[in-house]
Amino acid sequence: MAAPLLVGLAAAPGVAAGPAVVLDVPAAAGSEPVPEAERPAMVDAALGALEGAALELEAVAARMGGEEGEIIATGALMARDPGLEDAVRGLVSQQGRGATAALLEATSQYADLLAALPDELLAARADDVRSLGRRAARIAGGSAAAGAEGPASGIVVATDLGPADVAELAATMTGAALAGGGPTAHAAIVARSLGIPMVCGLGEAVLTVAAGAPVVVDGDAGTVVLEPGEEELTAARASTEARAAARARAGAERDLPAETTDGVRLPVLVNAATTAEVELGLEAGAEGVGLLRTELAFLTAREWPAVADHRRALEPVLSRLAGRPATVRVLDFGADKLPPFLEDTGERGIALLLRHPEQLAAQLAAIREAGAACDLRIMAPLVEAPGELAAAEALGPPGTRLGAMIETPAAAAAAPGIAAAAAFFSIGTNDLTATTLAVDRFGAAEVAAHDPRVLANVADAVAAAHAAGILVEVCGEAASDPIALPLLLGLGVDEVSVAAARVGLVRAWIRALSAAECAAVAAEALAAPDAAAVAALTAPLRAALPA
Ligand code: PEP
Ligand code: MG
Repeated sequence: MAAPLLVGLAAAPGVAAGPAVVLDVPAAAGSEPVPEAERPAMVDAALGALEGAALELEAVAARMGGEEGEIIATGALMARDPGLEDAVRGLVSQQGRGATAALLEATSQYADLLAALPDELLAARADDVRSLGRRAARIAGGSAAAGAEGPASGIVVATDLGPADVAELAATMTGAALAGGGPTAHAAIVARSLGIPMVCGLGEAVLTVAAGAPVVVDGDAGTVVLEPGEEELTAARASTEARAAARARAGAERDLPAETTDGVRLPVLVNAATTAEVELGLEAGAEGVGLLRTELAFLTAREWPAVADHRRALEPVLSRLAGRPATVRVLDFGADKLPPFLEDTGERGIALLLRHPEQLAAQLAAIREAGAACDLRIMAPLVEAPGELAAAEALGPPGTRLGAMIETPAAAAAAPGIAAAAAFFSIGTNDLTATTLAVDRFGAAEVAAHDPRVLANVADAVAAAHAAGILVEVCGEAASDPIALPLLLGLGVDEVSVAAARVGLVRAWIRALSAAECAAVAAEALAAPDAAAVAALTAPLRAALPA
């Protein structure tokens, strides 16, 4: 009997209610030994579920098309791999495993073998094989197949989600409750960006929920209620409906210009790591991608990605951006984004990459190739000196130009020199705020980008960029913060880039603001004593912003 309240880890904020869309079953559900007489039929059921998974994956691949579709279609080939079929057959007929257990066990062993291979491309397939096993086990367990129309909308209940799962489910997943996974997992990062509440690390108890039963996911508290009362259900449904309404409103307003009441255009782009985020952002009126966090695709990589790995990660995203700005950041490893092979490094950003020139060269080559049809902008994280840009550009194909992310007080102080060497500026207010105020970006304390010391650094960067005649974008969270956005506009930034779920709202804010008023308030804010005083100064501007 499932406990009504499960406590896990908050992975993506927001509250959501809906029917459980159960993708996985607990491993224990299939662990009863099967009597010998029933094993031939059980073999048929298990192999039939593998074929069912192959058909589902083919349908998903056909819907998606392109390079990404091809990647997902290889899952269907794996499902029909004779070696995998033999392993499943053996586990059922010789060891008496049930179909579900045999599918999970065989795919898990296969995935372990792949993960141990020195070939990075093959090792990366391990997650896909596990995902295939879960899909087949779900079919063997009798849960409704996803079908060509895609799964029903609701709260996805699963052991964990891989990149293909997220891409497939994004349109219908109103929330996610995961038995495993961690808040820094790729799925959690994407869920946050897409505005999908998620709780992970709930344990297997969450997998016992019946398909279609109501579930409430509280991505702020990190809890899941399996038997919600009417009151909880109503509050959570209202929250889900508000998100759906905001999305519909953003779609309806996507063709309205992101222009202030006094005629200043402030293009809004989208921050992304996946195609799902790019699509949601474009749907809401984003004019392109303002920050592609390429490192997120490689957080579990066992070695530096090769050109082919970069290409495989970039093509699905960049193919959706032909003719539009595509701002691709080179790998920003370091701090909380450390793949296992870099665990011991204390360096970050472009300084770390310049210590591994062949690796940076490989990524630059792949970006130039995959982004040839886009208005391609390549940028380097945590630049602090003009020489870093020149050194990086020399590693790319001829004609490679780089923009600089301004993310530290040292960078802001050196901004005139960096601007003279840079193709453009992008201000990373997440790091700039933390480094300027000397606080832990990931700590519990509130970190205010509207602190006058941070605003002074932004103002210096904007002045240097404009003196050099280059564009300056802001791609940190401050660009979608109601206190900071009017100030950034007032300080003269040329573009902002925000999480997909915020694109429509930020565009609506811009349409409600006067650039002249924002400039006046920003000038006062630079002279204010502290963040609280700045917040008070912006109160009249904020009062005009749509919620
Ligand atoms: C930033 O620091 O503001 C930024 C956009 O980069 P990231 O959040 O990926 O460090
Ligand atoms: Mg940063």
